[in-house]
Amino acid sequence: MNARPAAVATGSPTRPDTAGRLFVAGAGAGHEAHLAAYGPAPSSGTDLIRELELSGLTGRGGAAFPVWRKLAATAAGRRPVVIGNGAEGEPRSRKDATLVQHAPHLVVDGLLAAADAVRASRVYLYVRSGSGTPIRRALAERPDGGRVRVVVAPHTFVSGEAGAVVNAVGQGVALPTDRLHRLSETGLDGRPTLVHNVETLAHLGLVARYGGSWFRGAGTLEDPGTRLVTVSGDLPAGGVLEIPGGTRVADVLAACGTGPVAAVLVGGYHGAWLPAAEVDARLSPSGRAVPGAGVLIALGPGRCGLHLTAQIVRYLAGQSAGQCGPCRFGLPALAGAVGELAGRPAVGTEGRVRRLATTVAGRGACHHPDGTSRLVLSALDAFADDVAAHATGRCVAGGRP
Ligand code: SF4
Repeated sequence: MNARPAAVATGSPTRPDTAGRLFVAGAGAGHEAHLAAYGPAPSSGTDLIRELELSGLTGRGGAAFPVWRKLAATAAGRRPVVIGNGAEGEPRSRKDATLVQHAPHLVVDGLLAAADAVRASRVYLYVRSGSGTPIRRALAERPDGGRVRVVVAPHTFVSGEAGAVVNAVGQGVALPTDRLHRLSETGLDGRPTLVHNVETLAHLGLVARYGGSWFRGAGTLEDPGTRLVTVSGDLPAGGVLEIPGGTRVADVLAACGTGPVAAVLVGGYHGAWLPAAEVDARLSPSGRAVPGAGVLIALGPGRCGLHLTAQIVRYLAGQSAGQCGPCRFGLPALAGAVGELAGRPAVGTEGRVRRLATTVAGRGACHHPDGTSRLVLSALDAFADDVAAHATGRCVAGGRP
């Protein structure tokens, strides 16, 4: 293992390290500056899968699956493919684009380390159009950059879903497919395929250099390492932050200069509302505030959470691939019912919203209906008072709905 970079060396392996890890080389650093900051590229001789298991690194794209398990499953097959996923379909997320534009070499290090660990025969980076130029420039600087093919993702919500990623790279159509096949067994062209979010790959590149124990030098036992979050909404200064795992939501908001909030949407459009009384919850895949795609949206006092939820659900209903019943029929009906709830609902509207949200979950070929259902059900809980107020023709946002 190499020595740690200077900006990370301030943390001890037994104490959470609050120093940033992912942007140590400086924004937009070239390959030489990157190597000067982090040391030589990870050795392919390292037992990366074992180090990843030791690190506890989980996927940063939303599902929080243990990274080592996906590598181990893919490595068991013949001639695998590895795809770095920077599609970032979540509209409020900027973390992946920020990472690819400002620390592209860390992403490529992780991508190639993962490819070596599973003995991949083909390697792709799938990124949003704005990230294509910086990543191609970075690849051109590297002696190993020729191994990576870049594919540009469309700007749609579902373009980053793993099945859609494989379809986009293979056939140029970013639509999800059914969940019957594991990508680790049969993905691109029928080969075992590993799809990892670009932030996950950046962390993986560091684990390959410094080892699993080093990774645990930041964060908590349950959520080791650091993670990127994109913070937006009713606050003075949002943006992308690198935070230790297990950071309290309230501390993230405070770092953005936020005062009191009515609620926070944690995890993005497929996430869940956290009411003001619970903002002391720690961000953790196994906790009350599940970071998901690393998106936090602050709802200021006096703003109507039902209204914002209705806007988001209408957007999500329009973003489905229209291939499955729950998306073609269920989500538009759900969007209509949530819109009614955010206005002046008739008796029984809340029950209809709950029924529709429960019905669409688990029935699509991908998780799009599940995530939409989670958002809506969490809004019913977090904004129970608002639901009651709207039923009587009042709204916390002031005046009539
Ligand atoms: S569940 Fe919805 S988004 Fe997913 S594949 Fe089916 S139609 Fe497309």
